[in-house]
Amino acid sequence: MKTATVVGSGPNGLAAAITLARAGLEVTVLEAADTVGGGTRSHEAIVPGQLHDHCSAIHPMAVGSPFLRTIDVERYGLRWAHAELDCVHPLDDGSAGVLHRSVRDTAAGLGADERLWRGLFEGPVAGYDHTSADIMRPLLRLPRHPIRLARFGIPATLSATLLARAFRTEQGRALFGGIAAHAFHPLHRPLSASIGLGILTAGHRYGWAVAVGGSQRIADAMVAVLGDHGGKIETGVRVRSTADLPPSDITIWDLAPTAVAEILGDRLPARVARAYRRFRYGPGAFKVDFAVEGGVQWTAPAARRAGTVHLGGDFAEIAVAERDIHAGRMPQRPFVLVGQQYLADPGRSVGDVHPVWTYAHVPNGYTGDATEAIIAQLERFAPGFRDRVIGMAVHSTAEFAAGNPNFVGGNIMTGAKDIPQLVFGPRKTLQPYDIGVPGHYLCSAATPPGPGAHGMCGANAAQRALQKAHSSPWR
Ligand SMILES: Cc1cc2nc3c(=O)[nH]c(=O)nc-3n(C[C@H](O)[C@H](O)[C@H](O)COP(=O)(O)OP(=O)(O)OC[C@H]3O[C@@H](n4cnc5c(N)ncnc54)[C@H](O)[C@@H]3O)c2cc1C
Repeated sequence: MKTATVVGSGPNGLAAAITLARAGLEVTVLEAADTVGGGTRSHEAIVPGQLHDHCSAIHPMAVGSPFLRTIDVERYGLRWAHAELDCVHPLDDGSAGVLHRSVRDTAAGLGADERLWRGLFEGPVAGYDHTSADIMRPLLRLPRHPIRLARFGIPATLSATLLARAFRTEQGRALFGGIAAHAFHPLHRPLSASIGLGILTAGHRYGWAVAVGGSQRIADAMVAVLGDHGGKIETGVRVRSTADLPPSDITIWDLAPTAVAEILGDRLPARVARAYRRFRYGPGAFKVDFAVEGGVQWTAPAARRAGTVHLGGDFAEIAVAERDIHAGRMPQRPFVLVGQQYLADPGRSVGDVHPVWTYAHVPNGYTGDATEAIIAQLERFAPGFRDRVIGMAVHSTAEFAAGNPNFVGGNIMTGAKDIPQLVFGPRKTLQPYDIGVPGHYLCSAATPPGPGAHGMCGANAAQRALQKAHSSPWR
């Protein structure tokens, strides 16, 4: 039997491992941390019995993932749940942009922007199951569904700022802007609309789901599937050089490109080593988990029913904050994402004390403390918040990077999403998973289709490895 090693057990590493194990290879996953799952882990951070997602929380991309849809996830203990509202973006006047799962309901709530929202999303959402086959793999391919892809792709080439000008209400503009800001990229740059449009389209199709029992259940389900196919996982094993690798026919790296360049050293062809060493990282995340008595009492009533709340004020304010962090300046009012997963999954709370997940966008490697800035944004839209907090757990950019070397400088996207890295991945090639060393492939979120707990980078990289192996002498 042929053998494979996967380094890193994030969703992409696990998806790669499952794909190879299903093809009959003997697979071993090596994970540096003591627990499996990378960005899909959950833990009791503050109050015993109360569950917080350490990283990823909201999963439209995972529910719609062509890879995860090949698994009967419920059989492996993974159930999705939805809050009543997907996302709410409150404004200072007490109003809010409200994202419902349904395109029609969202549009109807946006008044003068009803037609625009329907025009942007009705077609792409209806065709999402087809277009996802194109957008969840390297983009520079002959599309399988060119007309559907064009309908999605034309607005996606724009800057978020340009697209935002088409909105007539601040609620619509800010709602779109907050979701576009998920890209951690200046909103005036070309293609900066693309990640937001992708998340919105997937979300309207599948909802902003949370995993019942925490995002860890995604990793646990994948580990169980891997086990069914004979795969093994070793935790607490940090690969620092090729000497740490068992002999394998295929090695797949769920790592940041700079780490792969360091580990493989001279074995990498010079052109690949150069590209990986120059790989660019985007801004960072500063995360604070709160235990909140009675939950957050938002001024905007809709925010009390939403799984996700975006805090950044109007579109212009978010655009300035994103531009600042990109330039290395900490804004006074950073863009803050708030997760209220317990609304969909009440088992995460202890009595009336609820886990509230927040993170602010900050400059890469930010060394200051953003806790007060996050609390100030919460106080702005939910006065009295501070008095309800009974405990908190803080994760700085340095702590993110120490806990997971893929998050360089706290960059939870594993790379800046500028045009070349968004389109090609870490180097300009039509084969983004190849690293130029026979049998070795890259599968982290640095490769297409990019960040998210969907596992598609891993599944695509493993397919590429299998395809190459079919034409290689070891068969
Ligand atoms: C705060 C935060 C919020 C997020 N929110 C969301 C969200 O709501 N929805 C969403 O879809 N995504 C979200 N994400 C992004 C998502 O978690 C990542 O895009 C995803 O986990 C990337 O998966 P991956 O497999 O590429 O890498 P990772 O999940 O980063 O896993 C890489 C693994 O490799 C291990 N590793 C690294 N170096 C070595 C080594 N040398 N040897 C052995 N093992 C090593 C690491 O310990 C880690 O376990 C969020 C991330 C963070 C941090």
